[in-house]
Amino acid sequence: MTQWQNTPQEHNGVMHNAYQTHHTMIDTHMAQYIAAETKRQQDHIELIASENFVSRDILMAAGSILTNKYAEGYPGKRYYGGCEHVDQVEQLAIERAKSLFGCAFANVQPHSGSQANQAVFLALLKPGDGILGMSMDAGGHLTHGAPVSLTGKWFNSVSYGVNPSSHRVDMDQVRDLAKKHRPKLMIVGASSYPRVLNFKEFRDIADEVGAFLLADVAHISGLIVTGHHPHPFPYAHVVTSTTHKTLRGPRGGIVLTNDEDLAKKINTAVFPGLQGGPLMHVIAAKGIAFQEASTQAFSKYIGAVCDNAVALASALSDLGYALVSGGTDNHLLVMDFSGSDLSGQTAQHALESVRITTNKNGVPSDQRSYVQTSGLRLGTPAITTRGFMVSDMEIIAQCIHQRLGNLDGPVDDLVKQVEQLCQKYPLN
Ligand SMILES: *Cc1c(COP(=O)(O)O)cnc(C)c1O
Repeated sequence: MTQWQNTPQEHNGVMHNAYQTHHTMIDTHMAQYIAAETKRQQDHIELIASENFVSRDILMAAGSILTNKYAEGYPGKRYYGGCEHVDQVEQLAIERAKSLFGCAFANVQPHSGSQANQAVFLALLKPGDGILGMSMDAGGHLTHGAPVSLTGKWFNSVSYGVNPSSHRVDMDQVRDLAKKHRPKLMIVGASSYPRVLNFKEFRDIADEVGAFLLADVAHISGLIVTGHHPHPFPYAHVVTSTTHKTLRGPRGGIVLTNDEDLAKKINTAVFPGLQGGPLMHVIAAKGIAFQEASTQAFSKYIGAVCDNAVALASALSDLGYALVSGGTDNHLLVMDFSGSDLSGQTAQHALESVRITTNKNGVPSDQRSYVQTSGLRLGTPAITTRGFMVSDMEIIAQCIHQRLGNLDGPVDDLVKQVEQLCQKYPLN
């Protein structure tokens, strides 16, 4: 057993399995679905790059009585009585977030990464203002100005892409677009970009055109706090993140800054601008995650996540698969099926039939629709939490290859191999 796994812990003399709590529920109908999902998480190889498995402490906090408490406002300035304990919960989460990211202000209330971004937009922009973010097929997120998102509808959104052959962010294009459109806000950050982002270069361009720079590190925050990716501070004016991806906390968002004036605007934007009562159970769980992420064990875990991603990428390359940008510097990689008969959608479904969970994804200059796509995104955060090692990546690559290379072939042997791997690294 590796030291970064979430091990089952003894509690009052019995082994308390964090992933079996549904056994004691009275609503057996709903419990049955939760039990089925528990089993799915245990029996499948989870390669969705944005997912992870939280610790027992985080699960307990997220399922705690804190869900009962209304606490609109901020610690010491609430609109409800009885907030003395939740004030301590939120203050501790804030202090830990600041210390983990080395910044002066943290808002831990956003219900999700998208709402964290919306708070920044509400704090800094007016409808019709210009924004410049990464396009979705290059790896950007919906909330960076995609036409279907509120951010694309209410703001004047322009997007940059990646170089068509290197698949790296095209900084010349970023500078040209920034100078031409003079956006009020530039966004650096992505959901399916396997390479390092250069925050300093973005800030230099933002300064040239007088824009704010938002770094949305939703995917890479775990890498950032452990030194496996350059830090967005001091370059970004504001940083947002989810807490449930590589950071391995509960589902939620945060907003960070070093600027007191911006911090005030952001707090007002989160509440009362966008949200009502904060989710105190989730905030407690976030606070635990920030503490866990500051440990040596977590640093080793993220190191292993990156090693596994590189190993998986090179095993797939060796088998002849094209990868966006040719490989990875972080926790994810994107298989590129452009020019082949296989679509991302078909690949995702084929792998699902042998219990390997992935998601279809656009690739740079994708010729297929958002439904079909030409890519498949794979990530190693979840399997590394279970204990999967570099030597297992070769086996996973082989399983993927056998399935994608023979879409009508039998699946029994492959399912058995996946079963064996899952049993070798049980999810407790
Ligand atoms: C996942 C993600 C988000 C949104 O997070 P949700 O919690 O799903 O709303 C925002 N930005 C980026 C870059 C992401 O990858």
